[in-house]
Amino acid sequence: MHFVDLAKQYKTIQQEIHSAIDRVFQNGVYIGGAEVEACEREMANFLHVKHALSVNSGTDALFLALKALDIGPEDEVITTPFTFIATAEVIANIGAKPIFVDIDPRSFNIDPEKIEEKITKKTKAIMPVHLFGQAAAMGEIMKIAKQHRLFVIEDACQAIGAEYKGKKLGAIGDIGCFSFFPAKNLGTYGDGGLVVTNNAHLAEKLVLLRNHGSSEKEKYRHLILGTNSRLDAIHAAILRVKLKFLNRWNAKRIEHAKKYTKILSLVPEIILPVTLRHFNGKNFSHVFNQYTIRVKRRDALRKYLADAGIPTMVYYPLPLHLQPAFSYLKHKKGDFPESEHTVREVLSFSIYPELSLKEQRSIIQNIKKFFAK
Ligand SMILES: *Cc1c(COP(=O)(O)O)cnc(C)c1O
Repeated sequence: MHFVDLAKQYKTIQQEIHSAIDRVFQNGVYIGGAEVEACEREMANFLHVKHALSVNSGTDALFLALKALDIGPEDEVITTPFTFIATAEVIANIGAKPIFVDIDPRSFNIDPEKIEEKITKKTKAIMPVHLFGQAAAMGEIMKIAKQHRLFVIEDACQAIGAEYKGKKLGAIGDIGCFSFFPAKNLGTYGDGGLVVTNNAHLAEKLVLLRNHGSSEKEKYRHLILGTNSRLDAIHAAILRVKLKFLNRWNAKRIEHAKKYTKILSLVPEIILPVTLRHFNGKNFSHVFNQYTIRVKRRDALRKYLADAGIPTMVYYPLPLHLQPAFSYLKHKKGDFPESEHTVREVLSFSIYPELSLKEQRSIIQNIKKFFAK
């Protein structure tokens, strides 16, 4: 059994992918052009935003978002220590300081109650992460941002298609960032990313930044310093095929999650992932990039399942403030107790759309067996 079997999904859309790739090869335009533009239009429509700009990766999406907002040395950006490293890495790489705020252990997302105490004169932005596919507390976060005149950059890399009170995640803050890494809910067969905004000025700047500060209209005239961060036409074509299936695939993930939750709720030792009700409880408020439980005997359960041939993952084993790469921030154990407690208890089970009934049954049976011992 694989934790995520990406080839299974490929086989269901093989014909369409082949003809999309062939179309790109035949057209002879491999960077930019009509394919990329069409992909961006379709993404903008899907996400209900004015501007969707494709880039090289989710990491670049976050980096260019900060750059477009002129965030740099001397600035502080508030984020969560319980996320993939890229979120805080880009803040540090642009020369700003990541300021961590502990999580709400129920949602695994940044605790809005603890944000204001971390705001200083240097704070420029809040970067919430919609971890595992569930919205951060965007209502509270937007309110705080407005009061203190801060930008909001949503790290929606794990949450494409999810909503918060009827709005698509990524479309609520000043800028939203997505990743098309293969194992994300919408992934290509390689790297890719997307930046979205409703602000025309920011969109214009992002277009320049991703292409060496040069606009398509005037080649070899460089208005600002940018970089090379473009989505290849071939990935744009692949994503156009896959976008049409995203709602169906997300619905599948939600269906798997319901099944896990229904049966595992009978195991008292397990704390199940909650879809917070005040985010309106609608179908797509959590799109389950991961199905993550909390359990005291995590490592023993993980080993038991591995011995039975069932792969699981720990997202994430170490909070960012205790990562060697961030030792210069001089954090210590105990600084963010909820995150530190969480990393010892989290365990994620397979939840990709093509996971079969039989496979899920076997995962659930083995979990039950472990606790029955
Ligand atoms: C995947 C991911 C990223 C980075 O995306 P890449 O496309 O791999 O660069 C950033 N933040 C979060 C929360 C992610 O899950």
